[in-house]
Amino acid sequence: MLFKELAGYYDRLSSISSRLEMIDVMAEVFKSASKDEIKPIIYITQGILVPPFEGVEFGMAEKTIEDAIAFSTGISKEAVEKEYRKLGDIGLAAEEIKKKGNIKRLADRPLTVSEFYEKMLEIAKMSGKGSKDAKVKALSYIISESTPEEAKYATKYPMNALRLGLGDATMLEALSVAFCGDRKSKEKLEAAYNLCNDLALVGDTLAKKGIRAIDGFEVSLFKPVRPALAERLPTAEQIMEKMGGRAAAEQKYDGFRCQLHMGARKVKIFSRRLEDTTEMFPDLAEAVLREVKAESVILDGEALAYNEETEEFLPFQQTIQRKRKHGIAEKALEMPLHLFVFDILFLNGKDMMKMPYEERRHFIEKLLKNCEIIKPSTMIMVSKPKELEEFFENSIENGLEGVVVKDPKSSYIAGARKFSWIKMKRSYKGELSDTVDLVVVGYYRGKGMRSEFGFGGLLCAAYNEKKDMFETVSRIGSGFTEEQMVQLRKALEKDKTDNKPVRVDSLIKPDFWVYPKYIVTVKADEITRSPTHTCGKEKLNNGTEAGFALRFPRLVGEEAIRKDKGTEDATTTKEISEMYRNQKRVSIEEA
Ligand code: ATP
Repeated sequence: MLFKELAGYYDRLSSISSRLEMIDVMAEVFKSASKDEIKPIIYITQGILVPPFEGVEFGMAEKTIEDAIAFSTGISKEAVEKEYRKLGDIGLAAEEIKKKGNIKRLADRPLTVSEFYEKMLEIAKMSGKGSKDAKVKALSYIISESTPEEAKYATKYPMNALRLGLGDATMLEALSVAFCGDRKSKEKLEAAYNLCNDLALVGDTLAKKGIRAIDGFEVSLFKPVRPALAERLPTAEQIMEKMGGRAAAEQKYDGFRCQLHMGARKVKIFSRRLEDTTEMFPDLAEAVLREVKAESVILDGEALAYNEETEEFLPFQQTIQRKRKHGIAEKALEMPLHLFVFDILFLNGKDMMKMPYEERRHFIEKLLKNCEIIKPSTMIMVSKPKELEEFFENSIENGLEGVVVKDPKSSYIAGARKFSWIKMKRSYKGELSDTVDLVVVGYYRGKGMRSEFGFGGLLCAAYNEKKDMFETVSRIGSGFTEEQMVQLRKALEKDKTDNKPVRVDSLIKPDFWVYPKYIVTVKADEITRSPTHTCGKEKLNNGTEAGFALRFPRLVGEEAIRKDKGTEDATTTKEISEMYRNQKRVSIEEA
């Protein structure tokens, strides 16, 4: 496939307003490509070069791309910048300049998708002294070989600003339509994706080896598995009932989720978003090599600063100081971490994920018996609500966040929030017991005192997994510090758009729409029914239609934007609706 053709498809995708249509167009792309082109097409469409955990980034700032446009078209940098400002999009600016300039393309034949991808990968891998100039030259060469339409996407790609609005679910459905004839195989593809976290690898396997190879997908060392997640329930009774009367209760540590892979004397540690964070935790990498006697292993756990002398767990605000780029070794000495291991996914070449929790736990305890830094999480078996409550209170007293209750018979369910894990956090009377993580889909210009910040609040949405859409649930106008307002405006300004993004479902029109990209953590007093929001919208008994809204929402957390979660990790519509039902149940029980 020629890159020109792919650019044509992207133009089509940009003008579509229905997700189903997007699936069809993307399926058409896959069908018209050769098998070898599926992988590069998926990476380009996702705006990445390799799976996120391999950590290869373009390393090109806005200015570098502007320089490349100037260099390749012979116009001044100032003129490029002016065009960019006018159009608000680097790709449109490049396209416009190429059109106006009427510059003949230099290449004797157009680039194929694979050639384009390889060239971009080469640019990304340039590093060290003089690499900035080399990157400008290489990208400008691509731009001069391009038509205006190709130039548009060749400049948007390194800025991760393709903005096609295609989520993982849409891509998986498109692959299913293209190679299996309908959308039904999406679930199987998703299961494989959950094991390798590499959409392009799933697509490549499907195209080359068919759906049977997808069925046989297994976890493998140094490819992070998408993490299992917990559901919520408000009371110990409800949890015990859901668990069928017997459950494992573990302390809930508030630190960094770490998925640790070790094999052949090599260690990699992945974050909750499955980015490679090995360099941030030299103490843990060293400890696992020293303490854990296994040929190969994948452990799932939470890393936390812990004071051994006082036996105190340090609060998250302290642990977070370990998240840094410089002075890592010094901080590791000053604030050593412990890894509390709560799951094992792989041991000595064997996939453990299908084994029941109780058996996996047995392996963890045996393997970590004499370890000091890498320890099993504290766990007790409970069979009565009262026992669970006591353990919960005890955990809170010890400075922990709460408990996670687990079904002893369950396998490790990658990438999903299921009732095999249920979290219970401290609940404040009259307040929602947990915060929610929402996707920013719009923002407001500030009025009155806030006009000086150019920021007045956010329009936020929950993620509807079934529809793969973002549905509004709250306008948030409080909880921001002045610094946060400035930080939010700066970030959001770059991603604002005149039209409502395709996957956003909203009845409200904010001052500016924003491409779904940023997550904020929000606390509220209650969830109420509301006709103005689309989250969980349905016909009520009284014949009216209503969704859910947060009452008295406010931003929480030191950092306004939550960096450890992507848009599809946001609180889901289903969770909001469950929280609504639970809160009703609690207030009835209290009454
Ligand atoms: P939260 O903001 O509450 O941590 P989350 O969306 O990151 O939520 P949840 O699925 O809601 O994740 O809760 C599980 C999280 O709790 C895990 O991601 C992990 O980081 C943390 N955790 C701490 N202790 C445990 C434990 N013993 N078992 C499982 N998860 C634990």
